[in-house]
Amino acid sequence: MSKKIGIVGAGTAGLHLGLYLRQHGVDVTIFTDRKPEEYRGMRLLNTVAHHAVTVDRENALGVNHWPNDGYVGHHYFINVPPQPLRFYGDLHAPSRAVDYRIYQPRLMEDFEARGGNIEYREIKGDEVSALSAKFDVMVVCTGKGPFGQMFQHEPAHSPFDRPQRALCVGLFKGIAQRTPKRAVTMYFSPGAGEMIEIPTLTFNGMQNALVIENIIGGDLEILAKTKYDENPRAFLDLLLGKLRKHYPDCADRIDEKEFDLANGPLDLLQGGVTPTVRKSHVKLDGGKLAIALGDVQAVVDPVLGQGANMASYAAIILGEEIVKQEVYDERFVEHVNMRRQDRVLGATRWTNFMMTNLKAMPVELQQFIGALSQNRALADEFTDNFNYPERQWDCFASIERMKAWLERRRPPAGCAEAVNESLVADAA
Ligand SMILES: Cc1cc2nc3c(=O)[nH]c(=O)nc-3n(C[C@H](O)[C@H](O)[C@H](O)COP(=O)(O)OP(=O)(O)OC[C@H]3O[C@@H](n4cnc5c(N)ncnc54)[C@H](O)[C@@H]3O)c2cc1C
Repeated sequence: MSKKIGIVGAGTAGLHLGLYLRQHGVDVTIFTDRKPEEYRGMRLLNTVAHHAVTVDRENALGVNHWPNDGYVGHHYFINVPPQPLRFYGDLHAPSRAVDYRIYQPRLMEDFEARGGNIEYREIKGDEVSALSAKFDVMVVCTGKGPFGQMFQHEPAHSPFDRPQRALCVGLFKGIAQRTPKRAVTMYFSPGAGEMIEIPTLTFNGMQNALVIENIIGGDLEILAKTKYDENPRAFLDLLLGKLRKHYPDCADRIDEKEFDLANGPLDLLQGGVTPTVRKSHVKLDGGKLAIALGDVQAVVDPVLGQGANMASYAAIILGEEIVKQEVYDERFVEHVNMRRQDRVLGATRWTNFMMTNLKAMPVELQQFIGALSQNRALADEFTDNFNYPERQWDCFASIERMKAWLERRRPPAGCAEAVNESLVADAA
């Protein structure tokens, strides 16, 4: 039987699914509202890091065009007086961030070169039923406008009705990369927010993304509200002041004469993300199913860099089931959901847990972070588990689990703990 699949949206979810299906000879049409040549003139979409598990999927799809642009681990900086806490953890293989205004159009070209069809037009919410007549199944990969309402909200999995952080996100030049190896830095300033500094391939070469996650009502929220365009110098001075106060390890690597948005005013994004989980599918008029994939099914705050990674994971599972199965009914969706759920819900719950608890910093989380800072093996495992959010949720789902995770890894009596070497290196 020859299969025909319709996909709405050419983000990571739609593209990874489309590319996988083309590898397996399936006839696929992606409907999207943006042409590849439009991306360069658009505002920054996000600042996405793909972890090694996603890079592996890109290798399998033959679309890893940036094999040498990755980073190898995470530095952690916790801004607690009198002495900030610093430590480092390795990833088992590099993660990598490429500006999506470069990444998405490149993969759209790959998809078309492999026989995929792209129809460039805006799809209206009520059009999906009519479109479905031409396809075996429709996959919706955007939550924009009416598509968010198409799939029912599932508050049991993600209870929020508003953003949990006010975001100020940009690509910046003038921040020296860490040496000797490229790495992300995750900064925490209890009561004020978090910041993730990500080495990112941009239109202006390798620069740093700053994802500044600001607690609403806190000292840093103003960064999400102050307009760069109105007075670039005032914006940069405000930002530098806040970095010196909350994230001095970043401020210390900034050349203030060079510091600015990497490639102009469009490299800044301000706003917020409401974490939401939605039902996985809906029956369309005419009887076919529309499956929700990517952010439209589960969207999380970007603080732990999970959204696109879980979208890609779920895309390949959906692709495998489409290839394997012949009938696209409720049972088909059950197969898909059983396989994608642990990771998607693991990422959602772990992210929501961290958002809530980083704000309050309960003593158990302080002790957990303290233990990571003292033991390099623990920091490596925690860092590498950004690849496997379900393992993080196995650790963080309850206080008992957090304690058991540490206890199981305690070195035998008489055996010195492997001190986190970056403590020594940073102190030197
Ligand atoms: C600041 C920030 C940082 C982030 N950092 C990370 C990170 O480090 N790691 C990570 O994994 N995730 C990260 N994310 C999340 C990540 O960006 C998303 O999870 C991911 O891009 C979702 O992909 P998607 O394909 O589901 O949707 P989208 O990327 O939103 O794609 C939607 C597609 O649908 C198209 N479209 C929209 N409306 C229509 C319409 N009406 N008709 C036709 N086409 C339409 C769009 O043009 C687009 O092609 C971050 C997000 C933000 C905001």
